[in-house]
Amino acid sequence: MARIFCIANQKGGVGKTTTTVNLAAGLSRIGQRVLVVDLDPQGNATMGSGVDKRSLKATVYDVLIGGAGVREARVTSEKAGYDVLGANRELAGAEIELVNLEQRDRRLKLALADAIGDYDFVLIDCPPSLSLLTLNGLNCAHGVIVPMQCEYFALEGLSDLVNTIKQVHANLNRDLQLIGLLRVMFDPRITLQQQVSEQLKAHFGDKVFNSMIPRNVRLAEAPSYGLPGVVFDPASRGAQAFVEFAQEMVERVKTL
Ligand code: ADP
Ligand code: MG
Repeated sequence: MARIFCIANQKGGVGKTTTTVNLAAGLSRIGQRVLVVDLDPQGNATMGSGVDKRSLKATVYDVLIGGAGVREARVTSEKAGYDVLGANRELAGAEIELVNLEQRDRRLKLALADAIGDYDFVLIDCPPSLSLLTLNGLNCAHGVIVPMQCEYFALEGLSDLVNTIKQVHANLNRDLQLIGLLRVMFDPRITLQQQVSEQLKAHFGDKVFNSMIPRNVRLAEAPSYGLPGVVFDPASRGAQAFVEFAQEMVERVKTL
């Protein structure tokens, strides 16, 4: 049965989507069966997995609102090496449409139940907000992976997210836990980044993943080729860091 993880951080541009598609590709490389669920109306995880969001017959929107099954709506990305439940702009409307539906915060969980036997990992790329869409992700997950840049305000935003995880754990999903903080776009030459990294470790201990993802231009270039960096340039430092992270995740889930 698949382990389900949300990649979440309410800030935009912190590396959620890059983490989702590259962790997925890294896991696939080491033999894991993976489904990526794109919960962001921007559809970046969809496109970054080599799936054209404009040509999809069904998306996560149809699953959440229209009662479509995950097995009908998912597509396989041969290039990326995993399956994708895609998203496009239509998903932006779901936020409002969900409000009037039954089980509005559990609809993804109910829909995923059918398909999770097909996978070892389900990775959910969350939008940059603590919205009803994100709540649908958090409600079906075993854990949250938080990508973060080691910058001055990083810790401040983190407490909101940690509180949300605690509340969801207490009220809606007893399985949910913070799995770990992933330092991304890391540049060890920058003293401030080292300091924030040390603060993170002091605060969160072993919740900080050992792997860290360097700032690497190949990771930033890959989406324009419709590929995760791990597939686009496997020899790059960024790709290697994500394969290492995938290995760390495989070890980490054994302890859950
Ligand atoms: P989010 O999904 O949180 O909005 P993205 O994953 O889209 O963030 O990343 C934001 C931008 O930073 C993108 O242009 C992406 O290509 C770039 N980026 C992310 N991680 C790295 C990295 N490790 N090195 C270089 N660029 C990165
Ligand atoms: Mg994103």
